[in-house]
Amino acid sequence: MAGGKPAGVTMESMKTWLVLVIACGMASGADLTVGSATAASGRKATGFIQVPAGVDAAANIPVIVVNGAKPGPTLALVAGSHGTEYASILALQKLAQSADPGELSGALIVVPLVNLASFAQKVPHLNPVDGKNMNRFFPGKPDGTQTERAAWAIAKQVVEKCDYLIDLHGGDLDEDLRQYAYWANTGKAALDAASRAMVLAFGLDHIIIQDYRTPLAAGATMNLTRFALSLGKASVTAEAGHAGMSSAEDLDALIEGCRNVMRHLKMLPGKAAPVEHPLWFGRVSILASEQDGVFYPLAAPESYVKHGMRIGYVTDYFGNRVWDAVAPISGVILYIGAVPSMKKGDTVAHIGEVAEAPM
Ligand SMILES: [Zn+2]
Repeated sequence: MAGGKPAGVTMESMKTWLVLVIACGMASGADLTVGSATAASGRKATGFIQVPAGVDAAANIPVIVVNGAKPGPTLALVAGSHGTEYASILALQKLAQSADPGELSGALIVVPLVNLASFAQKVPHLNPVDGKNMNRFFPGKPDGTQTERAAWAIAKQVVEKCDYLIDLHGGDLDEDLRQYAYWANTGKAALDAASRAMVLAFGLDHIIIQDYRTPLAAGATMNLTRFALSLGKASVTAEAGHAGMSSAEDLDALIEGCRNVMRHLKMLPGKAAPVEHPLWFGRVSILASEQDGVFYPLAAPESYVKHGMRIGYVTDYFGNRVWDAVAPISGVILYIGAVPSMKKGDTVAHIGEVAEAPM
């Protein structure tokens, strides 16, 4: 057969050769460096991804490299691009602390807190240094503002060095949220199957489908997972925690979710138990306030609401009702405003429309 095995080579020696070739493509034996952290095989190291000063201040993003003693893929775990989504940040800190390079096949690049200024200053959603959302500017720019330079550094140091990526989020200071994950449909069958297996292994039973099949305009910026997917790296997002809280239940969901993906990728021993019957959401409707004032929710995350149902209201500063928050579709409340502060145009709720499971 044309292109078959060379004459004189036994099946057994071909197999050995193939195993060697495959193993060489995986993290094994060599040092792994991310930012200032270099871990030898079987070791763990901490350091910083340095974002040099530019039009604004420099930043140092903490990173932990766990370089497994055995060969396997490299998984990047990222949190805290929104620095007050505390559960996701604490989950990665704990996961990195407890990760044992001796039992790991492959490597972990753990970035538990991308947006340190947001965390330190308790500023939700944005990087207070430049007022930008740190999960919207990938692949970044080496000469942009701090958010863009940080995205550039993470793209080079983390995304380009990994095979798989999980981005962790949660309800921010002002968001009441139920746990859910995102899976993206890119239209690339093998990539989508790989990330779908990851999101099922993660185990959260509410999954939002992101439609990334339409290419972005040249030069457009994007979120972290979309960027990683554009480089062919299977990636998912998971969210837990809300309104400044980090309960044991939310931390466990995120830590166990990451570990289950590691089991699925054969980086850890044991079997992942993928979620069997998740609810998939094909469309998320975003309801924004039409008035400044004081917000009162009338529904909780996870409740099923009907189109036209009142799910909250806004009063003026004297307590007079000035606007009703009405569900624009029938679906499940994925998150709803957690605090009374409300500005015209701010998000009141995300409502997910239940969809068929993707093939
Ligand atoms: Zn977030």
